[in-house]
Amino acid sequence: MMPADDAIALAASPTLPLGCGPLLPGPVQDPKPLRQKVFEHVRATGTAARADVSRALGISAGSVTQLTSDLIERGFLRETDDNPRDRRDAGRGRPAVALTVVPESRRVIGIKLSDERHTAVLADFAGTILAEAMLPTPAVRKTLDQIAEETAALVERVLEQAGLHRDAISAVGIGISGLVEPIEGTIPWSPLIAGKDLPLRAALNRRLGLPVLIDNDANMLTLAELWFGAGRAMSDFAVVTIEHGVGMGLVVGNRLYRGTRGMGMELGHTKVHLDGALCRCGQRGCLEAYLADYALAREAATALGRNPRAMASAQAMLETLFAEAKGGNMAARSIFRRAGRYLAVGLSNVIQLFDPELIILSGERMRYDYLYADEVMAETLELTLNHGRSPCRVETHNWGDMVWARGAAALALGYVTDTALGQGAA
Ligand SMILES: [Zn+2]
Repeated sequence: MMPADDAIALAASPTLPLGCGPLLPGPVQDPKPLRQKVFEHVRATGTAARADVSRALGISAGSVTQLTSDLIERGFLRETDDNPRDRRDAGRGRPAVALTVVPESRRVIGIKLSDERHTAVLADFAGTILAEAMLPTPAVRKTLDQIAEETAALVERVLEQAGLHRDAISAVGIGISGLVEPIEGTIPWSPLIAGKDLPLRAALNRRLGLPVLIDNDANMLTLAELWFGAGRAMSDFAVVTIEHGVGMGLVVGNRLYRGTRGMGMELGHTKVHLDGALCRCGQRGCLEAYLADYALAREAATALGRNPRAMASAQAMLETLFAEAKGGNMAARSIFRRAGRYLAVGLSNVIQLFDPELIILSGERMRYDYLYADEVMAETLELTLNHGRSPCRVETHNWGDMVWARGAAALALGYVTDTALGQGAA
């Protein structure tokens, strides 16, 4: 119990006014202007008649007519005959006209910066991917300038694929692993770039001459699920990704949760073992130190009796380890089994903390099926207090390596939508 003196000291805190109760208002209604809501509804449904918009958003037919004619006039929406309601309304002698997004009204590029290759997609305002590109890169830490150069080269490559000029692009979204401060546009720490507190957004902004958004790569994967995947129709879910590191993204109330400094959700660096294995962050006992590919590769060298320096990369080492485990090598199997048990610990902690509807296991390297075996899922549920309620669903999504870049494109699309139609837009 709190001693009485502390209670008094708390009430008399000079920074707080007298009184009691929360000083901040509760969750407010979505502050987006109605025209943005109308646009986003049409984009989310593909095509929508005015009556559908009116019903879905609970606004009058008159308002919808006014807002949509404004959006049409400004070139963001157009009318289309391609309306599934056509047949029904044609019987009444009045052709129903649906609305759809003008795809070419804005275009964005989404990029995932990675340790062995960078990937990019170019998307239109309707979210359709028009082109993809990839840039192999040496797996060493780069300087900020090198990263900016490589990003610019990749942007040129994807523009060439799409047959477009840089002027056609409204914004570039960037996903990168490590600690990212999306508001300030800085990288306190990343395994890809040497140095600390790097002004990545400013550097890319200067180099590309375009607005740039940066965010953690696990958040990009989560945005990909929220914009293009299973998360579109779900208000609360988590995404856990196991690759070079272990990342996590969380959607609460249809929004990406970012924490106060944009540095939350670092599942990979939650501690699962006091004084445990050394993590590449410099601390010990992080989940990542037992689960990420470098952690598995570290053990693989011993199990396979190979010199870790002789292998081309951690990835090559893992491929060999996986083949050995499949072929019955017990030491190789025990490495995956142990990693699977640590994954179960991590997942059960996520369920225990957030109680999500669904956890999506996603990422590029989602093929080590020992990690996603039934026994890992069973162990996850065993470690979770459940009391007979239906357990959290865990799904594995294997999207291919362009999914991160698609999420980064969603980040850019969100920004461009806010800029064009949000509060303060002309
Ligand atoms: Zn760590």
